[in-house]
Parts: sequence; structure tokens; C-alpha cells
Amino acid sequence: MTLEDHVGDVLRKARESLAIPVESAARAAGLSVSDYRMLETDGRPMAQVDFAALGARLNLDGAKLAGIAAGWLPGPPDLNRWRRLRVIRTTLEDNTVNSFLAWDEASREAALFDTGWDDAPGRSWIAEEQLDLRHLFLTHHHEDHVAALDAWRRRFPSLLVHGNPPDTPPTQRSGSPDPVPLGRLQIAQRDTPGHSEDGATFVITGFPDGAPAVAVVGDALFAGSMGRGFFSTPMLHRNVREQILSLPPETLICPGHGPLTTVAQEIEHNPFF
Ligand SMILES: [Zn+2]
Repeated sequence: MTLEDHVGDVLRKARESLAIPVESAARAAGLSVSDYRMLETDGRPMAQVDFAALGARLNLDGAKLAGIAAGWLPGPPDLNRWRRLRVIRTTLEDNTVNSFLAWDEASREAALFDTGWDDAPGRSWIAEEQLDLRHLFLTHHHEDHVAALDAWRRRFPSLLVHGNPPDTPPTQRSGSPDPVPLGRLQIAQRDTPGHSEDGATFVITGFPDGAPAVAVVGDALFAGSMGRGFFSTPMLHRNVREQILSLPPETLICPGHGPLTTVAQEIEHNPFF
């Protein structure tokens, strides 16, 4: 599996959020404008790139940027540690989105995180593991994350849906709701607006055998990158730092797109932080 964003995507996101012209980024990188454009497009550096100077210009960590360009990938987690956690990937055209299913072993109570494009793969896990699906947590209301909401609701009419309502500015919300128990697991909401105004992260704790916490972050953070700040880039940066990267280092991060990662790996390798 490849990263959601290659180094060119990372550069373009950073440059556009700061409204820095291509010419200025190219000069810092020591590239011609056309070579720099190619780098943003395909993520393959054709010539020697001065990542230190380019990073300084774009507010990115130059060494981490060079690491992404050199092909860094997060170490794949051994999901057997969590046992009661599944990653469900569904695709429409070229958009593959992750949703996640977690459950309590004893009670079989289950929670789904984002709907994906299609409910069928998640439903087969639920049938196979004989789960009692009680809760649906929505990280945000972008189409790829909620596309199958009606389908899930039809199949599970008593499903409790959690998350921030769409189109409510973060300032109008009165703090995060109480954690939701799921058998012996607990699911706590942390607001992480910035990519969207309703952005939320859900932190699952209480996995047996000391398995670390799991943070379902939606599009706030990707392995080696982050979502676009459609609502506010500075707010997104701050929330990722304060609400996600402040979790214990071994916390498993489950992003809405691309591979899974951990807090420790993102602190070490993500050029945005
Ligand atoms: Zn999104």
C-alpha cells in the first residue's frame, strides 16, 4: 500500500495553504519551474532537490520531506494485537476510503466508524463475527465518509449515530459528548475541525491485553501528510497537534485514506509537524 499523498501532494498542499507562488517554491528547491511543477504532479524528483530550503519556504520539515520523497512508509501494524478491529476499504472511481469496525469480545457489541461508499463489506464482517452493531461514529460529513449512511440505517434501524452535526461552526458546540461505552471499550470524541468544520476524532480505549488506544481521525491526518484545510488550515494544524499527536506514542492512528500509522511514527516522519 502506498501513502495517500506523495511528496508532490504534500508540497502542493503546503504551498497552496500559504498562497506561495510556484516560482518561489521552485527557486527554494533549486529547480526550474517546470521541474518543480512535475515534482508536485508526480512526486518523483528528477533532479537534486534542496528539501531543507524548500521545507523552510513552505513551513515543512525539510528532513522529513526528504524522507517522504525517498519512499518512507509507516511500519504496518500487527492488527492481531487488537483482534477486535477491522479496516474496511471501499472504492468509488479513484477514491478509496477507510472505515473501521471495533467491537467488544464478550458482548459482541460493535461500532462502525464512517460508512464507506458501500455497506456490503462491513455487513459481511458483522455477519461473520456475529456482531451486534449499535453505534456509528462519523468523523465528518464529506460524501466519501457518509455515502452509505442511508444503507446502514435501513439495515440497522436502531443504530445510534454520533459525531458533530454538519454545518455547525465549532464555536457553536458545547464541548465534547461523554464517552460511549462499548462493552469494556470506551469511545471518546475529540473535536478536530479544520479539514471540515464538523471534524471529529474518536479515541477507542480498553482493548484487552494492553493493546494501545486507537484514534480514528478521518481526514485530519494521513500517514506522512494531512487533509486539506477546507475550513481552516491553522485550526487543523493546531487540532492535530493538540488532540491527536498528544495521545500516547503507541496510539494506532486510523486515517480516512491510506495506510494506518502511529502517533510516534507521525511525530518522527510527518513533514507538517
Ligand atoms: Zn474529507
